[in-house]
Amino acid sequence: MWDERRYPAVRLPEWNYCEVFMMKDIPKLFGSLVFNDTVMQERLPKDIYRDLKKTIQQGTHLEHDVANVVANAMKDWAVEKGATHFTHWFQPMTGITAQKHDSFISPSGDGKIIMEFSGKELVRGEPDASSFPSGGLRATFEARGYTVWDITSYAFITDGTLCIPTAFCSYSGEALDKKTPLLRSMQALSTQALRILKLFGNASAQRVITTVGPEQEYFLIDKEMYLKRPDLVYTGRTLFGARPPKGQELDDHYFGSLKPRVSAFMRELEEELWKLGVYAKTKHNEVAPAQHELAPIFTTTNIASDHNQLTMELMKSIANRHGLACLLHEKPFAGVNGSGKHNNWSISTDTGINLLEPGETPHENAQFLLFLVAVIKAVDDYQDLLRVSVASAGNDHRLGANEAPPAIVSVFLGDELTEILEALESGADYHNKEKHQMEIGVTALPHFPKDTTDRNRTSPFAFTGNKFEFRMLGSTVSIAGANIILNTIVAESLCRYADILEKGTSFNDDLHALIVDTIKQHKRIIFNGNNYTDEWVIEAEKRGLLNLKTTVEARPKFIEPKNIALFTKHKVYTEAEIHSRYEIQMESYCKTIHIEALTMIDIVKGEIMPACIDYQNELAELLGRKKACGEYDVSLEEHLLSNIARLSSCLLKKLIALENAILESKEQQNVLARARFYRDKVFGAMSELRLIVDELETFVARKHWPLPTYAELLYSVV
Ligand code: ADP
Ligand code: MG
Repeated sequence: MWDERRYPAVRLPEWNYCEVFMMKDIPKLFGSLVFNDTVMQERLPKDIYRDLKKTIQQGTHLEHDVANVVANAMKDWAVEKGATHFTHWFQPMTGITAQKHDSFISPSGDGKIIMEFSGKELVRGEPDASSFPSGGLRATFEARGYTVWDITSYAFITDGTLCIPTAFCSYSGEALDKKTPLLRSMQALSTQALRILKLFGNASAQRVITTVGPEQEYFLIDKEMYLKRPDLVYTGRTLFGARPPKGQELDDHYFGSLKPRVSAFMRELEEELWKLGVYAKTKHNEVAPAQHELAPIFTTTNIASDHNQLTMELMKSIANRHGLACLLHEKPFAGVNGSGKHNNWSISTDTGINLLEPGETPHENAQFLLFLVAVIKAVDDYQDLLRVSVASAGNDHRLGANEAPPAIVSVFLGDELTEILEALESGADYHNKEKHQMEIGVTALPHFPKDTTDRNRTSPFAFTGNKFEFRMLGSTVSIAGANIILNTIVAESLCRYADILEKGTSFNDDLHALIVDTIKQHKRIIFNGNNYTDEWVIEAEKRGLLNLKTTVEARPKFIEPKNIALFTKHKVYTEAEIHSRYEIQMESYCKTIHIEALTMIDIVKGEIMPACIDYQNELAELLGRKKACGEYDVSLEEHLLSNIARLSSCLLKKLIALENAILESKEQQNVLARARFYRDKVFGAMSELRLIVDELETFVARKHWPLPTYAELLYSVV
């Protein structure tokens, strides 16, 4: 357990955080570091503001002189707030954000400088792109990529730098980032949803957007302890560690009261997020010891995605300031729950109508039902893509283990909504409270409670009253990936519907037929039971649902012809982009396991083996001394020595096996074969090595064991 002598507690400054915090004017603080609409309105000449708004809302071209005025106003505002630099902030395929800082300074000719920022610098940047993953898209002779201002996401200041959210493309225009396809997928969904709304007689909506509220889980441990674990530092997860005496079995951490250090961290995090205009709303302790969650209020998907990246970055840097380390890995500790991200997703018009809200009138209900079945159809048709969107080496530790949704994708609707759909399908009466036949567009939906009794936390994709909650995402990933897929597959369902309805003669009849037909064809994807049971795995197989257990099985689905056709039809990815992404993700999977394997080898050779030798020496000396005296019982020393000796020789064998597996991985011809090899052979050898080390940990004296134990890590924040 916690040993104060080994790891003295970090002392925090002696001031009352609560008091300081209470004095702040939160509404004034909120968004104070964002160049948002209010600031634009205040600081830009009227005609410039109008032009800029038009560009934001309608995607029209931004004129050069308008950009110059905006840039100058932005720079003045940022300098007043203490900024000295600017950066194009983008999200390459590494999964984290990238930035290169330039200062505003410009020589004024008299040995002095002025602070300058031009429209050209605002709108476009040309970072050397050769060191970012491109999956072969960017030939080395064309190392230049460029970043373009994403005008729909506001600029903000962090660490004295004005950050301009940008998309990142190759010189020939292919997307090299996560933002570009996300924006394209939002456009695709908007186009198709508007076709449907028009059929329902809605002429006021100009755009349809998707909204997202991502719930983010994370662990907090003591920083000093973190630094003593090379596995955490290099790979984000513990590669060794015997089970602690106490894990999460008492369920005493979930929603428990916050420890003062955690509370201080959360308060500072919230404050910094608020300044950046992030609607941080809910915080609580999660199931595992040292695990916590933060949920913001939902916003437009593109902004939610930027904000989630910012949240993850701030979690790490603020934890550091508090003597803590924030672990965002999906599975930092074996044997206790890992971390995920719940992606609450809905569709809404630019006039603020949530299209997944059942509404009150038969007309609203009909529209709701069409959007609802469009999502059901999309999830069934593209189960594979949803699974791909959450596939990573880290998330493989969670999906399917009994703590997160399984790798099988299904939809939870709740009993009442399911009954309504069944009544529609069979043409029978809806029995629950009222008894009548349901006719689309004519009868009003019966009232069903927003959240029925069973929230069903086991479902990977749950309807929760006016939105869907996609629960398979790993905690580290950018939410862009999952939302690109969601937007695109729902755009496709809506497109199919619009094609039929636009040609039809009797709208209500066609609509009714379409909804009933979709229910008939896709009801296999609806499952309201417990997704964690073995029975569901068997049942899902009977229904013909996919069960793509690991990243290696899932990823190749991305490049199947049906999926290439989908992405190219909606202009979300070109074929070249699809292949490049596949390469990048598969390589990243192999590299992740490769680094983990090397880290294990390094720790075993550099720390575990020497520790075993030291302890054996100590025991052998003692044994020798005792035997020389001839009068002592030496059974304990012999017991320990023989066990450590036995395990040490196993350790050597397993270490050599892992080293050989790594060597052999180089012989694999293509990325798929390599990924399979890493999953089966390298990961297998790692697991065997871990077993031995974890057993050794239970024999070697604590003072010789080089790594902080699980108990010390999980209970390190006091
Ligand atoms: P929980 O799922 O923990 O019970 P809630 O249902 O209140 O909590 O909300 C979870 C998340 O869903 C929050 O981030 C919330 O902002 C988000 N959310 C609510 N409505 C929508 C919506 N229309 N679109 C996207 N996200 C939404
Ligand atoms: Mg939730």
